[in-house]
Amino acid sequence: MQHRAQRTIARPAEVCGIGFLTGADVRLRFLPAEPNHGIAFLRTDCAAPAIPALVEYTVPRQRRTAIARHGVAVEMIEHVMAALAGLQVDNCLVELNAPDPPGGDGSSQAFADALCTAGVVTQGVLRKRLAIQCETSVGSDDGAQAIRAMPRAAAGLALEYTLDYGPNSPIAPQSCRFEITPESFLNDIVFARTFVLEAEAEALRAQGYGRRTTARDLLIFGPQGVIDNQLRVADECARHKVLDCIGDLALLGCDLWGVVDAWRTGHRLNAEIVRRLKRSHAEYCPADPIQHAA
Ligand SMILES: [Zn+2]
Repeated sequence: MQHRAQRTIARPAEVCGIGFLTGADVRLRFLPAEPNHGIAFLRTDCAAPAIPALVEYTVPRQRRTAIARHGVAVEMIEHVMAALAGLQVDNCLVELNAPDPPGGDGSSQAFADALCTAGVVTQGVLRKRLAIQCETSVGSDDGAQAIRAMPRAAAGLALEYTLDYGPNSPIAPQSCRFEITPESFLNDIVFARTFVLEAEAEALRAQGYGRRTTARDLLIFGPQGVIDNQLRVADECARHKVLDCIGDLALLGCDLWGVVDAWRTGHRLNAEIVRRLKRSHAEYCPADPIQHAA
C-alpha cells in the first residue's frame, strides 16, 4: 500500500468568466497553500472567513453542491472540486469575487488547464486516506437512486456511474467506470459537460438563474436530443456524473480508496455517503511526516 505526498500548486492561477447560476462576472484564483490546509473557498466580495470544502459545511441545494459559513455561501463548487481532486491538488485556497465560480463550458476543463499551467508540486507530508472497510450505501426513499461504497483489494478509487432516465428521456441509458488517477481524469473525464433538460433550464430561468447561459455553454436536452450543440463522446452525460462524484467525494477531505458504484445519484446522496463513510470509518493517518516525498 503506497503512500503519497500532499500536493499544492507551484504558483497562483486564475480563471475568469460568467457564473452559470447568478450570471455574475467572476474572477476565480487558485492560491498555493501549506500542508494540511486542505481546500477552502474565500469570497473576496464579502467580509467573511474562508469556507473549508468539507461535507460539514455543505448546505441543501437543488442540483448543485454549495458550502456556507456564517451566512455566506459559495454555490456550485463541484466542478472546481473535481478539477482539484482529479489532479490530486490537496491544499489550495480558492478565491472568488462572486457567489459561484465561472461556468466555463460546464466541465472542469478550464480549472484543470489553469492548475496544470501553474504546475502541481509535492509537499513532503503524507496525504491521509480512508480505505473503505465495509460496504456502505445510501439511497433515495423511492429506490430510484443509490450509491454504494465497497472495499477493494487494490489501491486507489474505482468509480462507476449508471444513468437511466427511462425509455422516454432524450438522454439514453448509459454507464461508465474509471480508475480515478490524474491521468484518467485528464484523458477521460475532465471535458465532460454538465447537462439539463430543456424544461429544467426553463424552470431555472424562471427563478432568475442562468440568464446569461445559453445552449452553447452547456448541454441542454430537448425532446429530440441536444439543442444547438454536439456531444463530445456518446456517454458524455455519464462521464459528467463521474466528474460530479469526484468533486463531491472530495468533501471527505482525504483520499478515498475502494469501489464506488452510483446509480442515478445527484449531489445530495453523494454528500450523504461521504457523511456515512466519515462516521463509520477511522481515517488512515500516517504517523510521521516524510521529508523527501517522490
Ligand atoms: Zn456537474
